[in-house]
Amino acid sequence: MQLSKAAELCYEITNSYLQIHQESQIISSTQEAIRLTRKYLLSEIFVRWSPLNGEISFSYNGGKDCQVLLLLYLSCLWEYFFIKAQNSQFDFEFQSFPMQRLPTVFIDQEETFPTLENFVLETSERYCLSLYESQRQSETAINMADAFREFIKIYPETAAIVIGIRHTDPYGETLQPIQRTDSNWPDFMRLQPLLHWDLTNIWSFLLYSNEPICGLYGEGFTSVGGVNNSLPNPYLKKDLSDIPLLFEWEIAHAFGKNAAGEHDPIVNTSPISVVDKERFSEYQDDYYPGWYLIDDTIERAGRIKN
Ligand code: ATP
Repeated sequence: MQLSKAAELCYEITNSYLQIHQESQIISSTQEAIRLTRKYLLSEIFVRWSPLNGEISFSYNGGKDCQVLLLLYLSCLWEYFFIKAQNSQFDFEFQSFPMQRLPTVFIDQEETFPTLENFVLETSERYCLSLYESQRQSETAINMADAFREFIKIYPETAAIVIGIRHTDPYGETLQPIQRTDSNWPDFMRLQPLLHWDLTNIWSFLLYSNEPICGLYGEGFTSVGGVNNSLPNPYLKKDLSDIPLLFEWEIAHAFGKNAAGEHDPIVNTSPISVVDKERFSEYQDDYYPGWYLIDDTIERAGRIKN
């Protein structure tokens, strides 16, 4: 897929979600969340830094939050281009999308699940990302600031980086949608237009999008770090209690249709790698999928502190 096509698809997904008329508090709050993110991107960010000339890079690790933000970012990128093209003296059909790939940084911090690594590579192709992958350090955990310093050295035109952090994430509470990095970091603007989203918003939009999501979420993970510090979320253990699914409507009415013209009720998760299948063999099927967990305060209960 070309970047313009990927961006247009994301625009259609987002528009389709915004047009849902359903008596659902989750859907209406997610529509509000999308509107605010779009306002940040289109009215506050793209007017300061052009999204079409490499000034803005995207930080991506295949996680659900950055994937939601990527879909919205590409949607706004399409809208930004479309409005510019409409206002130009030339007819729209003679205008070409000026960017082939979106500059993206992935810090490969620790031993990563092959399922996640494959997902990052596959989605890099799907969304036309130009993926910079930091060098992994074998013994010590990589310092994020140093990794970004390396990235900026290679892409010096970067003025701002888009980050899918939310207020409920560790250290996320007091962050602002647009802010400069701290003094011990390389100097760039942090663009954080997803801060106000909660877990229900994330799952409602992502499941409706029908875009492939990382297969680890289907195995009970709710937040994904490295192999040595991430497990399925213990609150999703099936023998604890029955957990209701709150996103049945989104899954049943997900964007696009299958070849038979019917809505496909299956969640589009990426394949689990052979190595991870082996790793999960003891407890596979013991957990509800990650989208059954909607309490932000226990989202990271599967993360082990080193
Ligand atoms: P999940 O919590 O399910 O793993 P996520 O990875 O998208 O989803 P966080 O782990 O909370 O969310 O990370 C917040 C954001 O920080 C990400 O959305 C991404 O933009 C950025 N980020 C985190 N880790 C990395 C990384 N290793 N490389 C690049 N960007 C990262």
